[in-house]
This record gives sequence, C-alpha cells and structure tokens, in this order.
Amino acid sequence: MHRLYENEDISVFWDSDKCRHAKECVNGCPEAFNIMRKPWIDISKAPTSQVWQAVSKCPSGALTCIYNHGVRIEYDKENSRSIAFVDDKTVGECDYEKTQNGWVIYHTEVDEKYTGKGIAKRLVYRLIEQAERSKTDVSATCSYAAKVLGNI
Ligand code: SF4
Repeated sequence: MHRLYENEDISVFWDSDKCRHAKECVNGCPEAFNIMRKPWIDISKAPTSQVWQAVSKCPSGALTCIYNHGVRIEYDKENSRSIAFVDDKTVGECDYEKTQNGWVIYHTEVDEKYTGKGIAKRLVYRLIEQAERSKTDVSATCSYAAKVLGNI
C-alpha cells in the first residue's frame, strides 16, 4: 500500500511493504502516527518539525518525506493524470491509461527548472494511491513510475 500525506510544507510517503513495525514513528510523534486511529497517519495533528523528525527515524524507509517547495499536486480524474502546480502554472504531470488489467502509468515529466525536488515521486504516488483506493491494479511502462512501484 502506498500513501501520500501532504500539508503546506511537506509531503510524507508511506510504503506499507517496507514497514517493519518498529514504531519509531509512533513513539516519535504519537499525534501524527497513531495505530489506534484510521487513518493511522494524520500529519495535520502535529507541527511539521515533529513529523519530519519522526519520519527521519523510520529505520526501514517505509516513511520518507520531502519539502514541497511551494509545489502542489492534484489528481485530474477526467484527464487520467496527476498534475504539479506552482500557483496556476503547470510544472509537471504523470499520465496513465485505463486497460483491462488496471491503470498503466506511461509518462512522468517535470519541468527541468523544478527537477530534484521530489515532484515526480509525489506525482506517481498520488496516482498509485488513487488506484489503490479505487481497488484498481496499477503498473507502469514509465521506468521512473515502475521504480517507485517497486517493479524494477
Ligand atoms: S517507524 Fe517506519 S518501520 Fe517503524 S512503524 Fe513507523 S513506518 Fe513502520
């Protein structure tokens, strides 16, 4: 399971396959990481600095986080894609097609001025999460998205 949690400042990625249940996150910031709650991650419940610190202690790499750099990510269902915006300007997108075997992500692109900020990962994660929430299989022919999915 892949999940993307965002606030104004940071994005937190969670990959359940990597989680070793060491609970460093729960012990480090119980307000944001609470296994008795659904959803168990809610980064709005704690200051960004505390969330960041707790995530950085995750020993397995199941939790990772990055700064948003003023970039927001939206899911565009109508056009089968996720889009990255800075204000109203599009700075990246990730596209998928619907097939008999589920969604296939075939393209991920970020404006070269905005590379190195984790935008591609956020774009891909948003689509993977959306597919998983819709109980739809997701795969990728885009090599970057396939890497994020753990397929290569
Ligand atoms: S710290 Fe990482 S490995 Fe441990 S429970 Fe949290 S997500 Fe899982």
